Amino acid sequence: MEKIKSLRGFRDIYGDEVIRFRLIEDISRRYLELFGYKEIIIPVLENTGLFVRTIGDATDIVEKEMFTFTDTGGDSVTLRPEATAGMVRAYLETGMFAKERISKLFSIGPMFRHERPQKGRYREFRQVDVEVFGIEAPIIDAELIWMIYLILKSIGLAEYTIETNSVGCPECREGFKRLIVGYFEDKKQDLCEDCRRRLQKNPLRIFDCKSPGCKEISGSSPLLFDNLCDPCRVHFDGFLSHTEELNIPITVNKRLVRGLDYYTRTVFEVTSGGLGSQNAFLAGGRYDNLVQSMGGPPVPGIGFAIGVDRLSLLISTSVKKDGSTVFLAYLGDRAKGFIVPMMRLFTENNVKFFYLPDAKSLKSQMRYADSVGADTVLIIGDDEIDKGILIVRDMAHSSQTTLPLDLTNLIDNLKGLSKK
Ligand SMILES: [Zn+2]
Ligand SMILES: [Zn+2]
Repeated sequence: MEKIKSLRGFRDIYGDEVIRFRLIEDISRRYLELFGYKEIIIPVLENTGLFVRTIGDATDIVEKEMFTFTDTGGDSVTLRPEATAGMVRAYLETGMFAKERISKLFSIGPMFRHERPQKGRYREFRQVDVEVFGIEAPIIDAELIWMIYLILKSIGLAEYTIETNSVGCPECREGFKRLIVGYFEDKKQDLCEDCRRRLQKNPLRIFDCKSPGCKEISGSSPLLFDNLCDPCRVHFDGFLSHTEELNIPITVNKRLVRGLDYYTRTVFEVTSGGLGSQNAFLAGGRYDNLVQSMGGPPVPGIGFAIGVDRLSLLISTSVKKDGSTVFLAYLGDRAKGFIVPMMRLFTENNVKFFYLPDAKSLKSQMRYADSVGADTVLIIGDDEIDKGILIVRDMAHSSQTTLPLDLTNLIDNLKGLSKK
């Protein structure tokens, strides 16, 4: 029969990669809780309108990359392509906005985008998503960068670059839009078809275009960064001076943009050379008008997401051994009777315990003990039972000794051996 395979861009995560995923998520969770964030679990499937309205209908994500379908009830639903939209919806729907002065939230889970699969980029990918609602002051922007720095340091990532920019507010953007529409209008014939349409609908999106011709044109255009309004300039300078105080090296990239409409003021990306051309594994920014635009009060927000799949490519697997692993090798039916009592004894005492349920020979059991990483192998046969002893083999030193076959004191006796 023909085997059914997983969908293109979807994959199974197992073995060492699961360990790296867990490391990233556990460390993130630890620091997020240290900084006062609370975990929230939100749906993977939402109304399509949520993403069209928040991300923007002229963006690549909404135009090309969403997993959207009509459910059996006739509603248009979408697998979330990012988490912020759902987080804002939840913040409003749960009434959190009315109960808390500041809400610090995080969520960990899968996102879905119908992109061309490539290294570190899949159609289902995991993110650690972080959002803060209720603070406009730029110190929180710097606090996020500080937390990111601590998380990456703890994960063991040494080489990365934090790039930042300000994408301004609606006021400074309006003026800037007029400026660049004039600029692009002159070069319209050299823009791609998408960008000619963007010129009418959303000219700022031209800066996201990946086509070489458009990149060249936008590469020498006037910059929003040089045309920020005074409050936006002051906000960004405040952010930069806090990151200086924290002594975090951060690069201002005046051309940095995010491919979503809702961002305002501070945006940032963390990149690493190890990932090739599209090398960001963490990105975020401020969205001071998003909550209001979704029908809520005028609450400012800022957040970021860590791409777990991409970050896991950058860290080495170091399987941390926690505690010891005991393996029971048995020969004969009488010895087999020790499996259950030993399983109880060791697992009740939080010791990893393995045995081969259908063992045929000592050799096969020793091979299996090796494969599960056992550091102590207990060997029992008829001979040992008659003498009231068991053989203790230290796998790391390939040495053997014996202990009394006395389960009551076995744990203590083993501890005594390892101290010698
Ligand atoms: Zn502004
Ligand atoms: Zn273009």
